[in-house]
Amino acid sequence: MLAGGVGGAKFLRGLRDHLRQVAPDGDGGTTAEVTVVVNTGDDVWLTGLRVCPDLDSIMYTLGGANDEVRGWGRVGESERVSAELTEYGVGWPWFTLGDLDLGTHITRSHLLREGLTLSEVTSRLTARWNLGVRLLPMSDHDVETHVVVADLDSPTGERSMHFEEWWVHYRAGLPALRFEQHGLSSSVAAPGVVEAIMGADVVLFAPSNPVVSIDTIVAVPGIRDALRATAAPVVGVSPIISGSAVRGMAHACLSAIGVETAADAVALHYGARDAGGLLDGWLIDESDAALTSSLGRAGLRVAAVPLWMNSVETSAALAAAALAEAAGLSV
Ligand code: GDP
Ligand code: CA
Repeated sequence: MLAGGVGGAKFLRGLRDHLRQVAPDGDGGTTAEVTVVVNTGDDVWLTGLRVCPDLDSIMYTLGGANDEVRGWGRVGESERVSAELTEYGVGWPWFTLGDLDLGTHITRSHLLREGLTLSEVTSRLTARWNLGVRLLPMSDHDVETHVVVADLDSPTGERSMHFEEWWVHYRAGLPALRFEQHGLSSSVAAPGVVEAIMGADVVLFAPSNPVVSIDTIVAVPGIRDALRATAAPVVGVSPIISGSAVRGMAHACLSAIGVETAADAVALHYGARDAGGLLDGWLIDESDAALTSSLGRAGLRVAAVPLWMNSVETSAALAAAALAEAAGLSV
């Protein structure tokens, strides 16, 4: 699976639940092997620490330690250290790092400075939690998404900021002129990523932000080619329901790249593999069922199913539908 943070985590929790039911290992787990290729374009060095928001969202959610009410971070979190950092005037006061969360970032930064790669560090961090899936960063290289916005005070008329500043501080409210992925062209896919895609029975695109989660992963040299070449069916789940980004501000990302916030527009943006794109199958919400025939003509096999993930059960049903779609494509 290719995944960003929160949308990826919710879908994965359902997939894991579904696989435990249909392919149980007799020990509460599953015999199915799931590898998740996670977006690291949102990663940032902050107060000397490497923060990987999407990897951590998935780790905490599958580890059962996420804050269900707030929707991100650790449950039972406190923010004493962040308050001290603000007093010293370092860091981003609007980007609160919780005390428990900081334990993860300190550990990660320590291991990176010891010389471990991000995938090695991720393997060390996730070993503590019983995730039941393997998390791989898309790349071991630092790749950072920056957003270019208009700035009349600047000589160039533009200003660039880290994605998290645009997203969290400005709530995606400054119109984005474009996204730039620093470090992308010289990056390579992390060890195991291409192998996982090429060796998979099924490749899934989580209902994640198409622009700053999925597109960023796909743009890492080697990954698009693997997706184009794999013998496995590639099935995506729409992050857009009835023209809305469900939760969050993904529409601000889509409009910046000229893609309508609509389930069919996102699918056509990825494209059908038959037509040089990335997808064989696409899941849309029942409310979007009218889009099925036009997407079919574009070469996509479409299923219209409930896409709201309000519980583990609804997420598991969605995962089952995605695997059924893939099975239909395999025959
Ligand atoms: P982030 O990295 O934390 O922003 O999370 P992702 O990139 O994985 O996914 C964010 C996207 O998930 C949002 O923009 C929504 O479009 C999508 N999303 C969130 N909840 C749901 C849901 O219940 N169903 C579907 N289909 N998509 C959802
Ligand atoms: Ca993210």
